[in-house]
Amino acid sequence: MAQTKQKIFRFTFTHFFAMLLTVMFIVTVVLTFKLLTNDHCNCPRQETVIQYVAKPKHYTNKGYESNHKLAVLVPYRNRFEELMEFVPYIHDFLNGQRINHDIFILNQVDSNRFNRASLINVGYLETKSNYDYIAMHDVDLLPLNKNLTYLYPQQPFHLAAPHLHPRYHYEKFIGGILLINREHFNLVNGLSNKYWGWGLEDDEFYVRLKDANLNITRPENISTGMNDTFKHIHGKDRKRDTVKCFNQREVTRRRDRQTGLHDVRYKIISYKSMTIGSAPLTVINIELLCDRNVTPWCNCEVSKTEKN
Ligand code: UDP
Ligand code: MN
Repeated sequence: MAQTKQKIFRFTFTHFFAMLLTVMFIVTVVLTFKLLTNDHCNCPRQETVIQYVAKPKHYTNKGYESNHKLAVLVPYRNRFEELMEFVPYIHDFLNGQRINHDIFILNQVDSNRFNRASLINVGYLETKSNYDYIAMHDVDLLPLNKNLTYLYPQQPFHLAAPHLHPRYHYEKFIGGILLINREHFNLVNGLSNKYWGWGLEDDEFYVRLKDANLNITRPENISTGMNDTFKHIHGKDRKRDTVKCFNQREVTRRRDRQTGLHDVRYKIISYKSMTIGSAPLTVINIELLCDRNVTPWCNCEVSKTEKN
């Protein structure tokens, strides 16, 4: 009797074990099949997700206002405090207008006098393959009025217009902040390289634009005035280098038909990418090379030593 019970138990156990294996096999096959086909998955598919992203009508590129790309070129030497204020401010301002932009600090590292124009020429040459317009931008001038547009300019656009700039009000003034597209900057051979020290390089550039029959445009319908359209962070200790030596005075009064983009001589010492706050920028350390036969006034100290 006990033997029969044992047999029945063994038989039932073997059956049960075989059935269990069969069921497990079927479940595994079904699950694997489901996973491979993914047909009845409830997870959102790629197409579904994209449908839910609202697409603003006029945005053509990642939410930017246009497909154009702006290089903000900032001629620079030894203005650390201004730089700390400028970069985060202008980055936010341009993002507010959805301008696709990058900021380049053109840091003059040689021992010649400051040359704003040549630095801008270098900035242009270094960035031209990736950007279709530039802003020639002083580090100490911040736009306050949101209606000052940094959009791609069909004609050179002088943002820091004489009727809005806090300090310079003459009609031919074109300094401070000027937007110009790549083709036009190239057309006029950029800026003259003869202007070492402060002043007149922008006035000479004005003549270049006029000679090329370009039509300088300026902001219109701006309700703010000379005192509240821009902030000019120019401390009293920032002395302007107005010294004139050799024949600098005569030469820099004349239109320069020789020098510009095609002959600016320089060495790139380094490129440094960094952020100030969360605003990204690239510092280009630039050594400008001076031909003392052409512009001996790139260093007036030498002239004093030579004279002594
Ligand atoms: N700049 C500079 N370091 C200098 C001189 C000039 O960085 O030693 C740059 C800076 O971007 C400045 C611009 O050149 O905003 C124009 O110079 P500055 O402000 O002296 O001229 P302003 O327009 O006030 O007469
Ligand atoms: Mn200034």
